[in-house]
Formats: sequence, structure tokens, C-alpha cells
Amino acid sequence: MGLTGIEIYKRLPKTNCGECGVPTCLAFAMKLATGQAELASCPYVSEEVKAEFEEATAPPIRTVVMGAGDHALKIGGETVMFRHEKRFENPPGIAMLISDDMSEEEVETRLKRFNELQYDRVGLILRAHLIAIKNVSDNGTSFINLINKLKEKTNAPFILISQNSEVLASGARACAERKPLLYAATKEGVDELAILAKELSCPLVAKGGNLDELVEITTKLVDAGIKDIVLDSGSRDSHLALHDQIIIRRSALLQKFRPLGFPTITFPCEMTHDPMKETIIASMFIAKYGGIIVLSDLKGYSLFPLLVESMNIYTDPQRPMAVEQKIYEIGGPNEESPVLLTCNFSLTYFIVSGEVETSRVPSWLLVKDTEGLSVMTAWAAGKFSADTIGPFVKKCGIADRVKHKKLVIPGYAAAISGELEEELPDWQILIGPREASHIPAYLKMWKP
Ligand code: SF4
Repeated sequence: MGLTGIEIYKRLPKTNCGECGVPTCLAFAMKLATGQAELASCPYVSEEVKAEFEEATAPPIRTVVMGAGDHALKIGGETVMFRHEKRFENPPGIAMLISDDMSEEEVETRLKRFNELQYDRVGLILRAHLIAIKNVSDNGTSFINLINKLKEKTNAPFILISQNSEVLASGARACAERKPLLYAATKEGVDELAILAKELSCPLVAKGGNLDELVEITTKLVDAGIKDIVLDSGSRDSHLALHDQIIIRRSALLQKFRPLGFPTITFPCEMTHDPMKETIIASMFIAKYGGIIVLSDLKGYSLFPLLVESMNIYTDPQRPMAVEQKIYEIGGPNEESPVLLTCNFSLTYFIVSGEVETSRVPSWLLVKDTEGLSVMTAWAAGKFSADTIGPFVKKCGIADRVKHKKLVIPGYAAAISGELEEELPDWQILIGPREASHIPAYLKMWKP
């Protein structure tokens, strides 16, 4: 962050209109300075200020995009060494390897796994992101055939890997509209691949034999006008590769060393033949600091924990995961169905709604905005109190959808039941279970 809160404030319109969701320009400036708001939230900032702000706040590690449209993948953009300092920005892309010497059957099987292995967790779909297409046969035709086949069957972004620059160029042209990541510009082939990447506007991997060589290559690429670069330090020993990841991140962030200010690509698939070790190495690169992690194959037992690890590390510690404040219908409720209340902390919502579903008792679930805090924390912070719940219940429209006037509140919020009855005199306040796991048994006894 190059500008302080006061410096940002001086550049804002100072009308305190509140359209950014914050009451004053000063408060908005302070949020911007700490990364808790986006400049785009203020519609009145001039283009000149936007450009100045972007320049001053450009992350020390460039954000690189590959793929197109809704399926594009963004990596890099990191600004801190450790998540607790602020947050990590863009989760690493998990790639699955498919090579052009594989049988049709093997390609189909892998593709099926790539498309099917996805997991719904706290409202997010977790899945692998890219396909690394490797030219092993040294035969341009089979490489292009494979690219064309994969183009038809998936919208995922591609990494094109070939040691033959002519084959790589033909492959890149066959799917240029997908903006594939080209692998790789080495010391010898840097000029040729710089021309190709520029012509097709594709991101390009710089691969060095060591970090010094890598710096030489990225310096050449930047001089040639290439901006979207991904780094491969060349190490295939997991210890050395981890060392390189840390040096690259420290150089970019702490020394502001621009030649290493790019996201990285790592190859656990080339560091071991043991699938379990490969998963452990991949897990290490999720924590430190892989931009792309290429796996030899995808298996549910290894992919799921890797995706969950990535999700946990890349959530913003300053913004609890939250769901929208509204009435949720579970199982097709009617006017006789129970009405339950909970907070909007994602995990609470998904646990409570899951237990209501398990009960098979169609229900209305009122989710009150508690800024992503759990029931107990929100209650202690005054965000799950009778004077905030009362107006929400009146305004949300649930009274028009049910005949009865019974509201089930979480057992942990029993202390507010008396005050809530005063706020909602027409409603009978019922104390629900303290633990979500007891909801099914509780709902089985429901009588409107
Ligand atoms: S929208 Fe812009 S002008 Fe309005 S309060 Fe926010 S920062 Fe100030």
C-alpha cells in the first residue's frame, strides 16, 4: 500500500454521500488504506485519481490471468508474507496433467475425473482449475489433436507444455482465444517465446536453471514488453523448491525486487512418484507460496483436502464468511411450517440448514445479518439482540407466509427471549436447541 488513509482522503470528493456503504469519505479512505474496501465502491472518483491509486497500490506480485470469460483464473496479486498480516488474495490454481502420449481412454478418464471431482462446501464449489497439456511425443499433430479434443470437452484454462518451440507455437495458436499459459521461456528460447506471447497476448512461464538465471530471463521478458509472467525456478527437489518459493516471495515483497514480482508455478508431479508424497508436497506449496500447482492426476482423497486447505488459507481473516440476510425456504415449507432464526455466519447457516433438511420437516429459516459473527459472538457484540432481531422479523415478511406466530430462536440466545417478546408482542418465542445436531429431534415434535 503506497498511500496512507489521509493521502487517499485528500483525493476523494469529500461529500460524505455514503453511497460507498460507509458514512463518510474519511471512513472510506481509512478502509481503503487497510484493504477493507475497493476504490470502485465510490462512483465519484475521477479517472486520474483511479490511475494514480492503481499505480500506488499495484501489488508487489503481479496479478496474472489465464483462460477466458467466466472460466478465467487469476493468480498472484499477493501483498503479504503471512495471512494474518492482511489476507492472501488469489488461491493457487490446481492443475491436472494430461499428456499427448496417453491413450484416448486414459484422456477420457482423466477428463471425467477433472469435471466430476467438485465439492460444495459452505456455499462454495471447490474443484481443480486448470489442465496442463504436455507434449511428450514431440509430435505437433498429436499435441494439437489433444488440445482440440480438450477444447471441446472443457472450458478450463490450459497450460501448454512443450520443449519444442514450434510445437508450442502451433498448440498456442490452436487455442489462443483461451489465453493459455505457455510453458516455458528458458535462457535459450526467451526471445522466440517473448514474440509468441506478445503476438497471442498469452501469459508466459519463465523457467530458469536457478534463481539467478530466472532473474535474467524475466528481465529480458519485461524489456521485451511482456507483463504477464509466471515463474518456475527449475528446482524439482521439494526442499529446494520450497526454498525458492520463499526467496521469491521475500524478494518481491520485502526487497521490492521487480524481476521476481510474479506468481509461481510448481510441479509436485515431477518431485516424486508416490501419490501420497505428491499430495504432501502440493499441500506445502498451497501454504507457501505456489501460484499454480501441477498434479500428475486427480483423486478425491487427495484433491478434497488440498482444496479445503486452500480455501481455509485464502479466506479473508478480516471478513467472516457470511450468507445473505433473508428468509430461506427448506423443503418447501407452508403456512403451518416452523420458523427458525439464526445468524448469517456461513458455517452456522450451513450446519443449521443441513440439520433442518435432515429432519425432513419443511421449515422457514430466518437468517439475520450479524456481519458474519456466530450466534454467541454476535449476541455479545449486540448484533443478535432483541432490538435488532425484532425489526428484522417484522420487515422480512414472514408474518405473511405463516398462519401461526411462533418463532424458534437458538438455545444459545435464550437470554434475549423476554426482550424479544416485548419487541414482537404478537409472536410466541420458543427456545430451540443449543446444538444444531439436536434440531431434527426438536422439529419432529413441532406443532403449529
Ligand atoms: S461514495 Fe465517495 S463521495 Fe460518497 S461518501 Fe463514499 S467516498 Fe465519499
